Amino acid sequence: MYERARLVVAALALALAAMGCSDTERPSPPAASGPEASNAEPPSAPTATAEPTPQARAVRPADLDAAVAMAAVRHLAGEIGPRHATSPAYRAAADWVARRFSSLGYDVRRQPVAVPGGDSWGVPVDAGRSENVIASPNGLDPAAPHLLVGAHLDTVPQAPGAEDNASGVGVLLAVAEAIADRRTRLPVVLVAFGAEEPRGPTDADHHYGSRAYVASFGPAQRRAVRGMLSLDRVGVGSVVPVGQARSGPDPAHRAVLAAARRAGVPVRPDLNRSSDHWQFVLGGMPGVRLGSTPYAAYHSPDDVPAVVDQAQLARTGRLVLAWLAR
Ligand SMILES: [Zn+2]
Repeated sequence: MYERARLVVAALALALAAMGCSDTERPSPPAASGPEASNAEPPSAPTATAEPTPQARAVRPADLDAAVAMAAVRHLAGEIGPRHATSPAYRAAADWVARRFSSLGYDVRRQPVAVPGGDSWGVPVDAGRSENVIASPNGLDPAAPHLLVGAHLDTVPQAPGAEDNASGVGVLLAVAEAIADRRTRLPVVLVAFGAEEPRGPTDADHHYGSRAYVASFGPAQRRAVRGMLSLDRVGVGSVVPVGQARSGPDPAHRAVLAAARRAGVPVRPDLNRSSDHWQFVLGGMPGVRLGSTPYAAYHSPDDVPAVVDQAQLARTGRLVLAWLAR
């Protein structure tokens, strides 16, 4: 899958690695505890391999099955419920996502993440361990050019987190299924991040999972990441916010906007540092956020599956596939 048109793409992707100047953005809120969770089985039993044959056709936006994303929203928010980063419910959610990735044929790795105690959106939370769930195509060389798509799996303690961020994880899983046996322009690594939500007021008090992931990279792996998309609150509204982390010219941002045009997905360009892409940008890699439309149930017990619109999950997922395709 990767040996193909990598050269052409690599040249293009190099152009991605830029950045602008500084700007402001509020960090996203913290995470805390939550209810215990049930552990439902994956809705489908895919037969994909995450190892497309050379003759596999290129992925297309229409390959996105939004029902897969919506089913994940119902499971994570409707059955597991609140899942702050160090809670047993978070562990159950991570187990479930890991099984989904494995069933699609990916190599799955779980990276432990130490998280401090603090105040998560008004709720005291203890220090503990969270984790990232990382799915790679079989045999991926992390020092070879690749793309990354991520979504945080944790919630604040008081919210079941349908929109924030079962929506992002749902699209991540739908993308994982769509590309498992189809060609993409570069190999794709998929990550469910732990502990994105804040445990304090500063920029150092959130994004623990993505920060730990980036910190684990050597220089070659940093150079190999040709683009990162963070899917964070992607199931509300009818236009997809596309956020660049720094103001000024940003080739990575432009590439995502171009993919949206190819996919016919309406977008709203904006500036955003409030998600895991920010840690990649701080690490010198190209990162962009999809999502962030305001909604009334934000970080509340009302953030339930009914808040999420499957049509918006579909828009977001089609945009991601267009970005991965070329
Ligand atoms: Zn979020």
